Amino acid sequence: MEQVKCLIIGSGPAGYAAAIYAARAGLSPVMYTGPQPGGQLMITNEVENYPGYPDGRQGPEMMEDFKKQAERFETDIRNEMIVKVDFSGPMHKAWSDSGHEIHAPAVIIATGASAKWLGIPNEEKLQNRGVSACAVCDGFFFRKQEVAIVGGGDTAAEESTYLAKICSKVHLLVRRDEMRASKIMQERVLNTPNLIVHWNTEAEAVIGEEAVEGVRIVNNKTGEKTDLAVTGFFVAIGHKPNTDIFQGWLNLDESGYIITEPGRTFTGIDGVFACGDAQDKIYRQAVTAAGTGCMAALDAERYLVEKGL
Ligand code: FAD
Ligand code: NAP
Repeated sequence: MEQVKCLIIGSGPAGYAAAIYAARAGLSPVMYTGPQPGGQLMITNEVENYPGYPDGRQGPEMMEDFKKQAERFETDIRNEMIVKVDFSGPMHKAWSDSGHEIHAPAVIIATGASAKWLGIPNEEKLQNRGVSACAVCDGFFFRKQEVAIVGGGDTAAEESTYLAKICSKVHLLVRRDEMRASKIMQERVLNTPNLIVHWNTEAEAVIGEEAVEGVRIVNNKTGEKTDLAVTGFFVAIGHKPNTDIFQGWLNLDESGYIITEPGRTFTGIDGVFACGDAQDKIYRQAVTAAGTGCMAALDAERYLVEKGL
């Protein structure tokens, strides 16, 4: 068993921002990187909307910068995953996948979220080569081009109308004869002239060898198949926050996002703070994740000072 002051779970923009602030505040943070060291930006190419990089930066390079900055202030970074927690006492407990037990009065959760994918042929192979789960991040790369997007919820409605402002034509593929999205969002979709809704339609395969060249769609009522010539294929069927290990300890919403006090990172358990995509189903951007990571470290620092720890 090892005791530390501040444990950070996760190594995306939220975890690293928390580490930089916690380390500079003298909390000697220990970070567990988890299954995807660097987080979601490790699977993207160009990040063009993170302030401070006027020429953009490759996602993995950017996360290497985050890591270096956290290491500069001596964050103890461990390439392991936390598999179990116990938040029953004032001293919080966590266990890594190697069985190591770690105790900390302050825990910062930055475990992020993962986009859901369809699992159709070529979807994985062509990620970053035309397949994307983030229209705000990647839409710009398809300006004046024809794209398709799958989903029927608010995210699909929002992202399809966003894409319609940039792209020449957008095909929204909805698997039922109605959308789950709120009425106002549906109205926006239906009132956007270059946004075509394909009802009862599923994507069967992404077409292309080196880059997306199209998508094969099938009408699930008639069985009719059509190939749409698109260069971008967006999937907007929801995200899953990586919060399973906190079930039973923290308040989670119906989708599994950690519920924090509005405008703060408090989870309802003293000394446990949450930041980044694990508690944010609305913005889900690197800069907002880093911003809440900073907030979590400041909240943790104040908590430890108040407790005299
Ligand atoms: P993540 O980046 O999701 O990191 C979560 C971390 O938690 C990972 O390190 C993971 O290993 C770790 N973890 C999970 N479970 C455990 C566990 N049990 N124990 C220990 N660690 C654990 N945003 C932008 O602002 N601009 C963009 O251009 C952009 N492009 C994107 C492109 C793609 C393809 C994707 C998928 C997302 C993109 N985003 C972009 C969104 C952005 O990546 C996320 O909003 C951001 O990464 C969230 O940061 P986070 O730190 O909260 O979580
Ligand atoms: P969601 O509400 O769960 O919707 C997911 C959509 O994807 C559904 O329409 C679902 O179809 C479809 N889908 C799921 N799996 C599919 C598959 N394999 N193939 C084809 N389609 C599939 O997810 P979300 O849209 O990401 O929204 C998540 C939450 O965030 C919601 O509470 C939403 O209201 C909120 N949100 C709000 C806003 C806003 O208010 N501006 C914006 C974004 C998100 P079915 O309907 O057939 O199940």
